[in-house]
Amino acid sequence: MQNPVTVDPKLSFIPEITSTQKSFFKSGKTLDVSFRVQQLKKLKEAIVSREDAIHEALYKDLKKSTPEAYITETGLVVKEIEEAIAKTHKWAKPRKVKTPLFFAPGASKIHPEPYGTVLIIAPWNYPFQLMFSPLVGAICAGNTVVCKPSECAPHTGAIIKEIIESIYPPEYIAVVEGGIPESTALLKERWDYIFFTGSTHVGRIVYQAAAKHLTPVTLELGGKSPCIVDSNIHLENTARRIVWGKFMNVGQTCIAPDYLLVKKDIKDALLEKIQEKITQFYTDNPQESEDYGRIINERNFDRLVSLIDQKKVIFGGKTDRGDKYISPTIMDGVTRDDDIMQQEIFGPLIPVIEYDSIDEAIDFVNAGEKPLALYIFTKDTSLSDRVLKECPSGGGCVNDTVVHIGNPNLPFGGVGESGIGAYHSEASFDTFSHNKSVLHKSPSIDLDVRYAPWGKNYSKLKFLLKNML
Ligand code: NAD
Repeated sequence: MQNPVTVDPKLSFIPEITSTQKSFFKSGKTLDVSFRVQQLKKLKEAIVSREDAIHEALYKDLKKSTPEAYITETGLVVKEIEEAIAKTHKWAKPRKVKTPLFFAPGASKIHPEPYGTVLIIAPWNYPFQLMFSPLVGAICAGNTVVCKPSECAPHTGAIIKEIIESIYPPEYIAVVEGGIPESTALLKERWDYIFFTGSTHVGRIVYQAAAKHLTPVTLELGGKSPCIVDSNIHLENTARRIVWGKFMNVGQTCIAPDYLLVKKDIKDALLEKIQEKITQFYTDNPQESEDYGRIINERNFDRLVSLIDQKKVIFGGKTDRGDKYISPTIMDGVTRDDDIMQQEIFGPLIPVIEYDSIDEAIDFVNAGEKPLALYIFTKDTSLSDRVLKECPSGGGCVNDTVVHIGNPNLPFGGVGESGIGAYHSEASFDTFSHNKSVLHKSPSIDLDVRYAPWGKNYSKLKFLLKNML
């Protein structure tokens, strides 16, 4: 006999939440698009009025400076909510599509409908943005939601819970704080959609749990995002755009350039410029800089320190465990076999690998898993076109890093090991909606040739299918 699934009695509130959410969804309240827009307005107001408290929580968790917290977390989320408020009515409308003559008279429409009750699991690196950005999509598509923030950013988790509980009843939107036991209990439930952001390792666990009920998923995962630098570049801007993308949030960004692949003849000049920019941004002592954050916890600090090969360090390499501080660090002469190339870095370390020909760089990138982002710096558009054509990736930039995530018109997501699905703006609405395709037929007019016995009608039917479909 099979053992019944046991749930820790302390977590028995989880099945209760999902069952009340399912009943709330069945009530049909979220099908009303005006209701969704109202909820988005409440969310915007709740966030705007708590901006300082949110920034304080992010400072406590990651020592994120206020400008960085605004640019990458609160500001971005508020913009996304404003767009959703303005466009949800349009996105939610059934879309007319053409109907072939064979089905005339008739009309065809795609009706977006909410999946139902969805689970959103967030990571710790942009703990506010990566909880609320998918939540906005789930709300505007008309779902009920359980949010699971990361236990590694507890101050932000607490304010996320406070915000949501102050404006929504738990049968509509609820927050479950906690780590693996809570996530595991949540994943035992039957969801209508799961949206997960985090590591590829945990992404696999989520995918397996979802498969049990054939639950559709979005998996926003990580990996090693390469940054290729040709010699035909604007040196100054290349260096500062790399430094900006790499050291924002101390490198704890899923789309930070993970490693540099640099054309041999520009390498020395580029590395010198990068060092100059690091010092300009964060001073000679980044530990004292207001704009330089900290590693999230000791576990990640120790992991990062183990990746630093002091023999290859040409800049930085300073660490302070008590302060969870690692200085911006450049390692030169790195090879594919070094420890730092065996995992996603997710910290302020730049390994540098040089190449002679672009074929070498392309082969190097394609020998790894498909990355979440790919960056190519060059003034030669035929070269950037070639790299884009030959190297698959979730997304990326030509002559910049990270900024593609800020354009609401570019759906954001990975491919292969870096993820499944994409979101932001209208793509978020689509992610959290099932597109129900419906052909509306006239009740009376009908084609006899469609029905058996076909006999002599077969040739007529063949003609109609060939010419009217
Ligand atoms: P993580 O996978 O360890 O945790 C993410 C979430 O999963 C957390 O809420 C955590 O509590 C939960 N979790 C952890 N172990 C679990 C388990 N065994 N079962 C169920 N749930 C579990 O990731 P992280 O350390 O929080 O974030 C870092 C990773 O996330 C990096 O790989 C990074 O690239 C990736 N990431 C991706 C994106 C993206 O948009 N693609 C954005 C941010 C971070």
